[in-house]
Amino acid sequence: MNILILGSTGVEHALAWKLAASPLTDRLLCAPGNAGIAQEAECVALDITDHAAVIALCKASKIDFVVVGPEAPLVAGIVDDLEAAGLKTFGPTRLAARLEGSKGFTKDLCRANDIPTAAYERFTSAEPAKAYVRKQGMPIVIKADGLAAGKGVVIPDGLSGAEAAIDMMFGGGLGAAGAEVVIEEFLVGEEASFFALCDGETAVPLASAQDHKRVGDGDTGPNTGGMGAYSPAPVMTPELTARTMNEIIVPTMRAMKAMGAPYKGVLFAGLMITKDGPKLIEYNVRFGDPETQVLMLLLMSDLLPALIASRDGQLKSFDLRWYPDAALTVVMAAKGYPGDYQRGSVIEGLDAAAQVEGVEIFHAGTKADGGRIIANGGRVLNVSAQGKNVTEAQARAYQAIDRVKWPEGFCRRDIGWQAVAREKRG
Ligand code: AMP
Repeated sequence: MNILILGSTGVEHALAWKLAASPLTDRLLCAPGNAGIAQEAECVALDITDHAAVIALCKASKIDFVVVGPEAPLVAGIVDDLEAAGLKTFGPTRLAARLEGSKGFTKDLCRANDIPTAAYERFTSAEPAKAYVRKQGMPIVIKADGLAAGKGVVIPDGLSGAEAAIDMMFGGGLGAAGAEVVIEEFLVGEEASFFALCDGETAVPLASAQDHKRVGDGDTGPNTGGMGAYSPAPVMTPELTARTMNEIIVPTMRAMKAMGAPYKGVLFAGLMITKDGPKLIEYNVRFGDPETQVLMLLLMSDLLPALIASRDGQLKSFDLRWYPDAALTVVMAAKGYPGDYQRGSVIEGLDAAAQVEGVEIFHAGTKADGGRIIANGGRVLNVSAQGKNVTEAQARAYQAIDRVKWPEGFCRRDIGWQAVAREKRG
């Protein structure tokens, strides 16, 4: 089969790495891709927000199956447009992608279906929102309704910070994403990312992971798109996995089908494991970044038939095999990220780093310049490793990182610290 992946981050590199290994894949294309993806797939420079251009590429290259990585094209309805053009596409339709595209939509769906989540209210103007915050008191969480590239959640220090966040969102600070605001209860517990593959009817649990959102060691500093992750998440016991499926994922699937928007694709639930059990923080309608980079290292089965079964509604009795190991990824970012950073520095030592046992390096913001690899984004590399436990995977990942020669880059040195401490305690 001829496969096209849309996207250019470490997620798409990990998917390309896995799909290139499928015996079913004849040709693998990626648009627009990056320097690492180019080692697995033919990269095509293309604006993926231009659905007509994507369709034209698919027809010209005789593409049999399209895998959409990022959320923005999904929320914009690229699956609807590609399917209407006769192209089999993995991912949710525009209406199903509202689970990520509108936080208010998801909260209302939870309320209507008794899905455990933080208590909340929705607002369309600042004054009632501020009155609600004053009534509820601190701590509280303020969220832009729409897609805000990871900047739409504010956990203010105090009332004045809360009011400033409300003014920023309604004042257009996040564009159209902040035209509506959700204010919700602050949940206390341990966070986990949980992934399920869905076909409109059936949901198959994939795996769990834990992300590190803060830029600095010891979980300090500003939030980022994610500085590292590991899988599985030790907090997700079999009992909590079953509760997450029964109380959150399955009722969501049922509700989406009942409203005529059956959910197909990968459903990524951000969870807070509270003393009362798992609660939904938010949904993403795509593979997580950087969680996918570790999930793909642990997936033993061929990914392609699973993605096709999701699109075709054939996941019932589908069986996926996983390695009984752990995997961990460390994000290398350009100095200054998540603030201002420079592009264009040269990265060396990647071949030597990739020689470390169990290591795969997935590229995010890179580009090829002749034979050289150049940094071309904030998050640039995902140095990923498999091991018999998180401790071993972590040691391998940092051994590889120490071989990367990139003075303009940095990474956290403590990815996986909670799991490593748990493993030490036994
Ligand atoms: P997001 O960008 O939507 O992934 O949210 C960023 C982070 O905000 C999450 O990973 C949580 O750490 C935190 N967060 C979001 N909602 C809540 C909540 N209701 N209670 C506590 N923390 C939250």
